[in-house]
Amino acid sequence: MAAMSVERPSVCPLDCPDTCSLTVTVEDDRVVGIRGSHANPYTDGVLCAKVPQEYPAFVHGAGRLRTPLRRVGDRGEGRFEPITWSQALDLIHARFTAVIAAHGPGAILPLNYAGPHGMLAGGSMDLRFFHKLGASLLDRRPLCGGIRTEAWVGTFGPVPGIRPEQVADARLIVVWGNNVTWSNLHLMPWINRARKAGARLVVVDPRRTVIARRADLHLALRPGTDVVLAWAVAAELERRGGIDRAFVGRHVEGVDEFMALARRFSSADAARICGVDRGDVETLAEWYHTLAPAAISVGNGLERNQNGGSGIRAIFALPALAGKFGVPGGGLVNGASFAFPKTPGRLARPDLVPAGTRTLNIIDVGRHLLDASLAPPIKAVFIYNHNPVVVHPDANRLRRGLARDDLFVVGADVVMTDSMKYADVVLPAASHFEHADLYPAYGQHWLQRAEPVIPPQNEALPNTEIFRRLAARFGFTDPVFRASDAELMDDALDPDDPRLAGVRPSRLPTERALAMTVEGEDAILFKNVFPKTPSGRVELASAYLERKYDARLPSWRPVESRYSLTLISPASDRRITSTFGGLHVADGIPPLEMHPDDARARGLRDGVRVRVWNDLGEIHLPLRVSDAVPRGVVATLKGAWLATSDNGQTVSALCPAHHADISEGACFNDARVEVAAT
Ligand code: SF4
Repeated sequence: MAAMSVERPSVCPLDCPDTCSLTVTVEDDRVVGIRGSHANPYTDGVLCAKVPQEYPAFVHGAGRLRTPLRRVGDRGEGRFEPITWSQALDLIHARFTAVIAAHGPGAILPLNYAGPHGMLAGGSMDLRFFHKLGASLLDRRPLCGGIRTEAWVGTFGPVPGIRPEQVADARLIVVWGNNVTWSNLHLMPWINRARKAGARLVVVDPRRTVIARRADLHLALRPGTDVVLAWAVAAELERRGGIDRAFVGRHVEGVDEFMALARRFSSADAARICGVDRGDVETLAEWYHTLAPAAISVGNGLERNQNGGSGIRAIFALPALAGKFGVPGGGLVNGASFAFPKTPGRLARPDLVPAGTRTLNIIDVGRHLLDASLAPPIKAVFIYNHNPVVVHPDANRLRRGLARDDLFVVGADVVMTDSMKYADVVLPAASHFEHADLYPAYGQHWLQRAEPVIPPQNEALPNTEIFRRLAARFGFTDPVFRASDAELMDDALDPDDPRLAGVRPSRLPTERALAMTVEGEDAILFKNVFPKTPSGRVELASAYLERKYDARLPSWRPVESRYSLTLISPASDRRITSTFGGLHVADGIPPLEMHPDDARARGLRDGVRVRVWNDLGEIHLPLRVSDAVPRGVVATLKGAWLATSDNGQTVSALCPAHHADISEGACFNDARVEVAAT
């Protein structure tokens, strides 16, 4: 008899700004097809290629974790034996209890990130459990996105910018450090719509990406020099009479201090420092001065360097200086996560955290694991929603830390990743198709909810249930540890927020997304949304960032290194960071792109295998000679798994783990390397 086929609504949970609505075809409790649905008008039936191609194999393929496991081989080797859930919980309870008795609960560290973006899987019962346990807190924002968010909050406060759909109304669109066609796909139709109506498109990106090829103007600047370019544009605006004096007088703090910094850089200075044409700097300034509405979309690529916060802040200053806010299509496509009525205090229950509990920065975990003087030392790690072995900067150091004999490592994931191979106990997590969740977004303003489309596979459990069971095993009897998924949803969002129109979050329809508006209208800064900074104005000189990071104003300093090439590692079109990487091992490691002049200087030809190294590690890649990267810059895609590599190292091994100017954020693109034939 033919299997019965049904279609069910769902949502893509991956670490992507778009958060597409899905229609999932299910046969015999198996996902057999995925296509875009129109439930979310922004994504409107269109998906990237990654999800329909990869997700069924991710959920049902050979790599899927089906039972709890106990390690029987060496760390990283990947040899395990199946155990029962009861045995797994007992093991974790026994080892965590011993660690707490010897060193206190702070010696336990949850090492979680943003694999799934649902509010329940991403941070709900898990955080309640670790908070009650008294485990060290992890600041995970510095790994990605935290710099941009802090720059936004410091400049405008926790308010939403314009919806991406408003780009259709713009006459000038500046896409700055955002590979839209791979990583923000659904912005593209709105850009196209605007261009059909005559809008100009400027792309600022070191690489000549697909959207850069289509742009009216592409500035292929050197990584880490964005702040200089934005300062020079601000100074050019001033020279051209492009500062809106009335607007800045009423609404902007710190203009004189900011402009004193900006005036130090002429368009010629910016051209020399950033490696772009002087005329292009002036064209950008001229267009930004004369064209309105003007929308700027800032991606995450430009934050990943020691000047990252400064670069983003200087870009955020441009619409304030030029008075571009207050109209549809004007301002900044940013701050979407502040469009949703989230209630993290009720969901994660930070009130359960014991006084004095320390917080560790996620990008410092490798250093802390090897720090004999850390008090208390880290004696147990729980890795979930994360593949740190592949994605952390200075990945070799992290691996040395995770390989410590005296460290107890627990892992939970949907599939057997490189990081799970370091765990003593591995727990099989349900994919998002197997549990209910709520999905706000960080790149658009539509709220979505999903029910499971298939039951948990084999012995897999949703994250919420894993941590409910752990809480019970540890004797946490408070009702907050027995909350159902529906109750967690009702804790995740403010049920009294007028945008929910009286519908409880757990009852939101799954067939259509809900627009996050301001009293029924699109959010537009300086029309119906106003800065929530300490001064109530746009703060180019930020009291918030001064207090937190001693960074009242943007700044710039070049990276000093004895290695001459800048290595950048942007996102892949095959993976979401490292998710789905296990399905692409046979593809091999991504190539290294190098400018023809740099290849010639090293006697390298297209297609040869090269070694790329610095003091932190060495990787071996096929060379692609291409003028899609500027001189002095080499690029390879992030997130490949260790099995793609002939020496067990991937690009993150070469990325330094120092901190950016704000948010103590990661500086992947500060990697400096040399390249030679193998
Ligand atoms: S990864 Fe992004 S673009 Fe692709 S389906 Fe998911 S949300 Fe949509």
